[in-house]
Amino acid sequence: MNSPNVPAAVSASSDTSWRPDSWRARPAIQMPTYPDAGALESALGELRKLPPLVTSWEIFALKKQLAEAQEGKRFLLQGGDCAENFDDCESGLISNRLKVLLQMSLVLVHGLRLPVVRVGRFAGQYAKPRSADTETRGDITLPSYRGDLVNGPAFTPQARVPDPQRMIRAHSRSAMTMNFVRALIDGGFADLHHPEYWNLNWVDYSPLASEYQRMVADIGSAVRFMETLAGVEVHNLNRIDFYTSHEALLLPYEEALTREVPRQSGWFNLSTHYPWIGMRTAALDGAHVEYLRGVRNPIAIKVGPSVQPDQLLRLIDVLNPDDEPGRLSFIHRMGAAQIAEKLPPLLEAVKRDGRRVLWVCDAMHGNTESTSNGFKTRRFDNIRSEVEQSFDLHAAAGTRLGGVHLELTGEDVTECTGGARELTDVDLERAYRSSVDPRLNYEQSLEIAMLIVRKQRQ
Ligand code: PEP
Ligand code: MN
Repeated sequence: MNSPNVPAAVSASSDTSWRPDSWRARPAIQMPTYPDAGALESALGELRKLPPLVTSWEIFALKKQLAEAQEGKRFLLQGGDCAENFDDCESGLISNRLKVLLQMSLVLVHGLRLPVVRVGRFAGQYAKPRSADTETRGDITLPSYRGDLVNGPAFTPQARVPDPQRMIRAHSRSAMTMNFVRALIDGGFADLHHPEYWNLNWVDYSPLASEYQRMVADIGSAVRFMETLAGVEVHNLNRIDFYTSHEALLLPYEEALTREVPRQSGWFNLSTHYPWIGMRTAALDGAHVEYLRGVRNPIAIKVGPSVQPDQLLRLIDVLNPDDEPGRLSFIHRMGAAQIAEKLPPLLEAVKRDGRRVLWVCDAMHGNTESTSNGFKTRRFDNIRSEVEQSFDLHAAAGTRLGGVHLELTGEDVTECTGGARELTDVDLERAYRSSVDPRLNYEQSLEIAMLIVRKQRQ
């Protein structure tokens, strides 16, 4: 791909071989080829001047919370869309997604008796890895859609040309999303104080109805009791921390938002608090690992069923050589059918080596399938099973599941089947809106939070 200018600043890191652009010397897969090098350079030049989206002190605060999660003192809830798109930068969608995440976190805080680290997959989740570089329909072949950060989803030659100006739009949309989320959190969501106002009709449809009703009533009375006792609003949302994450895939964009911060040593990715490396770009000698090893953010890496124990240990050597608390998370995404076989050897290797990581279960990406009526879906029972097996496998290995990573929305979509209302393949036709992976809807998301609590109480 075309190379933008090398930034002039010198790394303050003691590792002089790393620079924000040192990834360029490594194999960089999943990257678009921009047709116009001048247009690319001009967009990156503009991005390098724009204000960052997060700050270094927020990044350190999150790292501290993740370190606590590693010690079993917190639980991580990370969730949001598979991919955001520019058209969905809309107040209702953003506030509903934030609301379901906050409601889930309240269920978890109350049920697990642990503070929750809240992280959204949003305000920057605009780039997608693809299994093929091109897409063919009939006798027409075009470049694949790589997320709104890169090109457009329409199946036309014009839409599929990578456009560097999209990086500027993504930065603006991320900033707008972030601004709104920060304002909502500062202002507070009134109905979070009143679980009785939540949309919980679905609870009656579950075989666990009475258990769920008890859980909801418990949360309600706990909140009221604390408010009466303390005379204040307990869930004072002004004091809630909320963090963002996205897959650090399009490295020129990430590089342009990588900054040195006055009076801090080293470099920070200031486009998000908690970038992760996807499964397809996790090669040890690849560009993505090279890039993320040098930033001071907490980082995560997806771990799929083909990863071998020694590979994982070498990734730790590269990404967290000093065994820094809170620095590195492994998000395993094996699939309900494979996790019992694939996860334990990894847990044992990391444990044997005494390495500090946060283990997180992504119960979505190993469970994707296609239905006979042509939808990409995930079955709720498989998602549930992967979460539940994760808890058991960690317990058996003497390690700890410290969080979950979910694709979800606050809307009433029908993309994953099952759940309390037992959505079927036919229901998928009603409200399937994702242009990429299927998400849990509002009800299914809350149900998973309750199932996590139930599992932990057993
Ligand atoms: C994703 O998180 O949307 C994704 C593509 O996941 P993975 O890299 O685990 O396949
Ligand atoms: Mn996805």
